Amino acid sequence: MRGTVLYAPRDVRVEDRPDPKIEEPTDAVIRLAATCICGSDLWPYRGIEPIDGPTPVGHEYAGIVEEVGRDVRTIKPGQFVIGSFFACDNTCEICRAGYQTSCIHREPAAPTGAQAQYTRITLADGTLVATPGLPADDLVPSLLAASDVLGTGWFGAVAAEVGPGKTVAVVGDGAVGLLGVLAASQLGAERIIAMSRHEPRQALAREFGATDIVTERGEEGVARVKDLTGGLGAHSVIEAVGTQESMMQAIRATRPGGHVGFVGVAHGVELPGQELFFSHVHLHGGPAPVRRFLPELIDLICNRQIDPGKVFDLELPLDQAAEGYQAMDERRAIKTLLRP
Ligand SMILES: [Zn+2]
Repeated sequence: MRGTVLYAPRDVRVEDRPDPKIEEPTDAVIRLAATCICGSDLWPYRGIEPIDGPTPVGHEYAGIVEEVGRDVRTIKPGQFVIGSFFACDNTCEICRAGYQTSCIHREPAAPTGAQAQYTRITLADGTLVATPGLPADDLVPSLLAASDVLGTGWFGAVAAEVGPGKTVAVVGDGAVGLLGVLAASQLGAERIIAMSRHEPRQALAREFGATDIVTERGEEGVARVKDLTGGLGAHSVIEAVGTQESMMQAIRATRPGGHVGFVGVAHGVELPGQELFFSHVHLHGGPAPVRRFLPELIDLICNRQIDPGKVFDLELPLDQAAEGYQAMDERRAIKTLLRP
């Protein structure tokens, strides 16, 4: 099969790789209908996260089950399935509490890399969710978005306690931030402030339900959110970047008693204890337990109530993955969909 390998920073190659096989009795092998490049793939691509030799990449996937191991009970060959980046048993106490990304059996879900024609999925019964029947082709991008960015934006909103009557601010205009806007809108937020200085992303944020746009960042961005909220700050802030600046912007834009849902993978973030103490802000976040939300998100997509696939503004054949990385790195694309 063809699969994508990151050799070194900015050195992405699509090459012939061994076909994934069932290795554990709980595995499944799926044929990808579509895959994509994640904002988090840019950390090793840019050399900010070290890599240890050539590494197969990609952790977002949607496709048809080809084969299952002998202990797989609920997932069947021929089903169209979606799963998240971490595999889970979905039965342990942590999973049942809705934190499948901290499952006691957590492991990478697609260890052979999902930016490929085929991928091996671990703990298939716990990890994968099947769609009702085979989805129409035009739903595939949205279902793929549910694999990570939609589920992550959704968790950001849930962790920030978004709900009816609340004002929500979203820090970050990547795919996760934009889908955090969509989630906030679905969860009934009254007002949604998208923080973005990039016009096409502002337009998509509005389409997804943003009512206000703030172009300022850092302290100025915080001041603008306070201006828009009677000096108090937002009830709920979704942090979807993962830097020191974005995290502090999120905390400072939240009113006392409010909630920050942080879903940007933290890189070099250090929180000042005393400021946090006096802020009265709740912090909750981490790797999104996408599995918790998948059944609901698949329903919303299959019933055409949401269209999160709009975050894919570049579609390329798998063999051009390197161009897809470069376009995202240079912010020419929000998110690249790859067709195997
Ligand atoms: Zn578990």
